[in-house]
Amino acid sequence: MRIDIKRGDEFQEFKVPFKSATLLKALYHIKSYIDQSLTFDANCRYGVCGTCAVRVNGREVLACSHKIVDGDVVEPLRNHKVQRDLKVARDVGRDLKRVRGWIDSIEDIETISDGNIVKLEKQSDCILCSSCYSACPIFEVNVDFIAPFAFTRAYRYLLDVREGDKRGKIDSIQQNGVWDCTLCGACSEACPQNIDIKSDILMLRSESSRFGYFDPNFNLMSF
Ligand code: SF4
Ligand code: SF4
Repeated sequence: MRIDIKRGDEFQEFKVPFKSATLLKALYHIKSYIDQSLTFDANCRYGVCGTCAVRVNGREVLACSHKIVDGDVVEPLRNHKVQRDLKVARDVGRDLKRVRGWIDSIEDIETISDGNIVKLEKQSDCILCSSCYSACPIFEVNVDFIAPFAFTRAYRYLLDVREGDKRGKIDSIQQNGVWDCTLCGACSEACPQNIDIKSDILMLRSESSRFGYFDPNFNLMSF
């Protein structure tokens, strides 16, 4: 089977002797037997750590989950600095800090109920793979936009009954935040954990309104 891998500005063709294999298995084969210099990131191999996210035929995938087909075109994630071949520099902490993606001020609550856990279960599944960051078209025009996964994290803690500073969370997502999103849904489509990030952003907009914020674009519209 043939796969083309982007290396710098060019694509290099590789042949791998598999009829059925994950992309990660193919990458390890190339590195072990064809070209030791091929560089990529991987860790758990089970879709848990999110480290091996790349793009195949223009779509974000986890290399450990994607089954290769003949002619696959493999590229590094977009919107990230490419360090070498498929390896990119990730700084998920930057955006998690911006939205204060943790419990800021603990409410005096003895336990979190099962109902509350279920409510924030999906958002807690994020593995910080950065696929949504890669898929989002806003970064091409605004590098300061908050990464989609950080919205999901902010919403997760907004739902958490233990969080005592919900206003802090809402304040943090206004600038270069929820109102700048086009609601295109590319982030939701890219997510390997099936988190509907666009829907979380819509919920955050609604919550922002409850705290007195409104869409600043309304000011720019003439009626
Ligand atoms: S829905 Fe918003 S955050 Fe998600 S990819 Fe589109 S513009 Fe980016
Ligand atoms: S929200 Fe989904 S696509 Fe984005 S970093 Fe988390 S797991 Fe990856």
